[in-house]
Amino acid sequence: MFESLSDRLTGALKDLRGKGRLTDADIDATAREIRLALLEADVSLPVVRAFIGRIKERAKGSEVSAALNPAQQIVKIVNEELVGILGGETRRVQLAKTPPTVIMLAGLQGAGKTTLAGKLSHWLADQGHTPLLVACDLQRPGAVQQLQIVGERAGVPVFAPHAGTSVGGEGDLGVDGSQAAVAVAQAGLDEARARHYDVVIIDTAGRLGIDAELMKQASDIRDATNPDEVLFVLDAMIGQDAVATAQAFAEGVDFTGVVLTKLDGDARGGAALSVREITGRPIMFASTGEKLEDFDVFHPDRMASRILG
Ligand code: GDP
Repeated sequence: MFESLSDRLTGALKDLRGKGRLTDADIDATAREIRLALLEADVSLPVVRAFIGRIKERAKGSEVSAALNPAQQIVKIVNEELVGILGGETRRVQLAKTPPTVIMLAGLQGAGKTTLAGKLSHWLADQGHTPLLVACDLQRPGAVQQLQIVGERAGVPVFAPHAGTSVGGEGDLGVDGSQAAVAVAQAGLDEARARHYDVVIIDTAGRLGIDAELMKQASDIRDATNPDEVLFVLDAMIGQDAVATAQAFAEGVDFTGVVLTKLDGDARGGAALSVREITGRPIMFASTGEKLEDFDVFHPDRMASRILG
């Protein structure tokens, strides 16, 4: 991901090299190139506008007279602004003062929630935590079993009603299904308290598209479990749709952080660059493959450096 964006940005900045002084026209031309590169990468228009505005303002301002040569100065500004739209500081998981810490996962079907549940639990266990996975996706046939397989692979126990349970029938997000999911979440929390698991990760149902009942079920689970973190899991490959999806989840469920998945894909990846600015929520983790270890804390500065080559 980001290869072509990276090429375009480094190309735009390379043209400045060797120039002793930059005129406003030089800066405008470079800003235009950067703007095109970002739009082509599917970064959302308001984010691009704000980004370009800040770059021009800073590049034309007094900063350019500092010790670095003008081209280096622009690269520095672009890098800093990129780190800014990616969230600035790395944001760590908020642990509960009194365990268990509750982490709820939300997102569309296929975004990578169940896969992430395995990775996140494995990562937490590596750090000495004792996580429990709770299977609250009772809609998708086989979802509970999938989480059990993921848990087994991660070496983390799974709390589930019954193996392979599907309440309400295939694709039915009815009231009963919602209540059952809430009941499983609560029972999972009770189990964690009784057996002293210190982190509970709740996998929830997703749908192929945004829908009111999906949001209601997710917010019911949230209200019933009072999570320390609600992580919105976003497939970075879905392009422009990512912004609308993120906004819908921000309004419908609210979330404390974002996990970007499928960053190993070759899509344009603008979602990754828009979601922080659009929702105001930090990107906390990145998933880069199907294996347990294809996962890391998201570092805005490292991602910006990677994009700028
Ligand atoms: P859920 O419906 O949100 O629980 O999504 P799943 O966890 O079932 O993932 C959907 C598909 O995406 C599965 O085939 C996963 O193996 C795959 N997947 C999940 N995360 C990643 C990732 O980071 N990279 C790639 N390439 N595939 C992923």
